Amino acid sequence: MSTLVVKFGGTSVATTERIQHVAQRIQKEYKKGHSIVAVVSAMGKTTDQLVAMANEIATTPSKREMDVLLTTGEQVTISLLSMALQSLGIEAQSFTGWQAGIVTEQVPSNARIENIQAKTIQQALNEHKIAVVAGFQGIDAQGNITTLGRGGSDTTAVALAAALGAERCDIYTDVDGVYTSDPRYIKGARKLQEMSYDEMLELAHLGAGVLHPRSVEVAKNHRMPMTVRSSYEEVEGTILKEEVIVEKNLVVRGVAFEEQIVRMTVYYNESYTGSLANIFTTLAKNHINVDIIVQALVAQGSPTVSFSVKESQLQETLAVLAAHKSTLGYDHIEHESQLAKVSIVGSGMASNPGVAAAMFDRLYREGIGVKMVSTSEIKVSVVVAHEDMLKAANALHEEFELSKVSVEV
Ligand code: ADP
Ligand code: ASP
Ligand code: MG
Repeated sequence: MSTLVVKFGGTSVATTERIQHVAQRIQKEYKKGHSIVAVVSAMGKTTDQLVAMANEIATTPSKREMDVLLTTGEQVTISLLSMALQSLGIEAQSFTGWQAGIVTEQVPSNARIENIQAKTIQQALNEHKIAVVAGFQGIDAQGNITTLGRGGSDTTAVALAAALGAERCDIYTDVDGVYTSDPRYIKGARKLQEMSYDEMLELAHLGAGVLHPRSVEVAKNHRMPMTVRSSYEEVEGTILKEEVIVEKNLVVRGVAFEEQIVRMTVYYNESYTGSLANIFTTLAKNHINVDIIVQALVAQGSPTVSFSVKESQLQETLAVLAAHKSTLGYDHIEHESQLAKVSIVGSGMASNPGVAAAMFDRLYREGIGVKMVSTSEIKVSVVVAHEDMLKAANALHEEFELSKVSVEV
């Protein structure tokens, strides 16, 4: 019997009625003869509410206790969904992350899954039960409960699909597929029938919140077919796979954006002779994710290096840099908040040098100042003022004609 892993996000399980609806949806797949593992998120905005409660009690809550707190959200959903399935006469059993054998590295709040001991889940499936698994969580080698980073339930689902040798992993959500950009904010955003893992990975890393980036990485590594589809309507979603039919003339496939970016600038004295790599080694050791890096030589040869981090890591970044000031040998640091990153993505870009130029030209015509730039073979990202983010994203979506359906070749 083939195994299907299905995942339902927060909005899809926001109320008990919706949980019942999800149970019916799962029942349909079950009746087709599949073994089913259902991965679920916390109900609605539960995780945000739990974060807010922690922040009322502590300015920098312990990461370990944060993980214990946040994982309770998913535990509520697994029990309720199992009850809903049982009410439909289907055998179902709930599993928290550790019960499901999800072992992660020892990094609180943002752990990667190291391996999955899927025996218990497999046993439940062999007994024709639906296994209902809490997303977003696992256990580390020390027995601590860990979480996989916000949005991490997608990764639980794909990792389980890989561990169980599932036929497919279906991500049910509040949109009916992957669009050329976030349909909530971008006029004319268009649903894509299929998308390559690489393009999706890039879009997810660049802020397209529809999928947790690591889930796409795991799907790509295991060549796991993965779909994004609606939990409300029965319409075809978007399928992610290795190779897709490239749309004619479409060099850019998607536009992504991300708010709450901070630009840090580190100033060194003219006499500084050390390697600028030191700073990034120190930040990496402290689990600070540095994104765009720009190095410059300013007046009289004093070097500076600018880099961007997420606002959520600003305080930690400042603390780490301050703690290592003497070894890093810099003079002083400045930072600019209220920034955002807007990116265009497409695998056809590598062979099209004009794309970045067209992007900068359009932003210039829109009167949008570009503060940082980063390019790779399949993307160009710019950092702009937060207030310009949606204007820039909409303009670029229009510039590269992403609303137009081009004839597929
Ligand atoms: P879930 O709670 O089901 O995990 P998310 O909120 O994490 O759902 O992801 C779905 C949301 O992702 C959509 O409501 C949409 O606003 C947003 N989104 C961002 N970029 C895209 C995109 N390119 N295509 C589709 N949805 C996107
Ligand atoms: N509940 C977690 C979050 O809100 C994980 C998830 O929904 O994927 O980030
Ligand atoms: Mg999500």
